[in-house]
Amino acid sequence: MGIYIKDILCAMPAGDGKGYSIETHSIYVNKDKIAGIDEIPVGFTMTNMIDGKNKLLIPGLINSHAHNYMTLFRNSADDLGFDDWLFKHILPLEDKLTGEDSYWGSLLAIIEMIKSGTTSFCDMHIFINETSRAVDVSGIRAVLSRGLVGDDRKDPEALRRVREAKEDMELWKGHERMTFMLAPHAPYTCGEDYLRYISEEAKTLGVGINIHLSESKKEFEDMMASKKCTPTEYVNATGLFDNRTIAAHCVQMTENDMQILAEKKVSVVSNPVSNMKLGNGFAPVPKMMNHGINVCLGTDGPASNNSLSMFHEMNHAALIHKGATLDAKAITAPQVLAMATKNGASALGLENITGEIKVGLRADLTVLDINKEHFMPRTNLLSALAYSTTGSDVDTVIVDGNVLMYKKELKTIDEEHVYYAANKIAKRLGLSR
Ligand SMILES: [Zn+2]
Repeated sequence: MGIYIKDILCAMPAGDGKGYSIETHSIYVNKDKIAGIDEIPVGFTMTNMIDGKNKLLIPGLINSHAHNYMTLFRNSADDLGFDDWLFKHILPLEDKLTGEDSYWGSLLAIIEMIKSGTTSFCDMHIFINETSRAVDVSGIRAVLSRGLVGDDRKDPEALRRVREAKEDMELWKGHERMTFMLAPHAPYTCGEDYLRYISEEAKTLGVGINIHLSESKKEFEDMMASKKCTPTEYVNATGLFDNRTIAAHCVQMTENDMQILAEKKVSVVSNPVSNMKLGNGFAPVPKMMNHGINVCLGTDGPASNNSLSMFHEMNHAALIHKGATLDAKAITAPQVLAMATKNGASALGLENITGEIKVGLRADLTVLDINKEHFMPRTNLLSALAYSTTGSDVDTVIVDGNVLMYKKELKTIDEEHVYYAANKIAKRLGLSR
């Protein structure tokens, strides 16, 4: 199968290895890879042609922190403080959720992601097998991680969760579009010995770690009161950061915390909308970048956002740090695009797979329709990506060389069926009538 994308404006990596330049190229996709840029690759046979007129090609977006099943809770627990939101609303709802519910919730999330240009996501959840099924049928790329809570390795329930994570990973091992991580939920839900145990298991399995870290002021203050250290110091002492780690949120950060994350090469996933919505504040993203920390971007779950559009997230990331630091240069439009693409790829261990328009990488590509008023006049399309593009500008999406949406029509998922199932589950959960 070969896709010829003819004469299209592309967001290409700039020559200096930083930034981007907008250039017109023709792209050749052969099977699952970007096989040629302006040069027809050997053995190429065209089966599809995409005309680049009035279009912009960008690397597929990477949502580096999500809880996709939470689409089912969307708009049901809003305008609440973090603790009320989590402990009084979300956790009791999760107790009622089945694996089958998670399958439909994940598919609903994947519809929203594909339609808004996301080609890869990293998910934290309990029902990994069901989320994997949704990834498998939809054609999207994913890094899936089992959420783990517990005190220590003597706790049979804590051990059961790790065992289930391993069983689910085994079921989907070797899948072309899926990889896995272990996800100790947070410092406040995982004891020190349990974190040590998970760290050892991750090393044995050769998988990375996905953790929520220093998300709220209360988490930070409680840890200081009970352990006389910051949440970051607490986790660091267990050796967990010796694994490839992504840490979501990192809102409450000391200078020492940032030094630890830089030294241990922990990637930070910033979730600006979720942090604002739950009243948790602003992560010090410009400072973390100055420390040399790889910072990428995520939406968090739809119960705390409530959108899964990465353009919505990019727009907030580009703006809020300017406001919070009183510095209009705090984060630039090209930096935001990098956070939503190649920084995410390197955080998730997908740097040789996706994240850029480059020969040899998998063809994970998003085509935008730029024949619209908010792209006119076409003075600076990089700025447009951060400040004025919306998810509804996405026209066509390719993942692993397969067209998942063409001219706004989904090719792998029956949307109406998913909407029906999601509404039925919401009714059963008592969330809608
Ligand atoms: Zn989260």
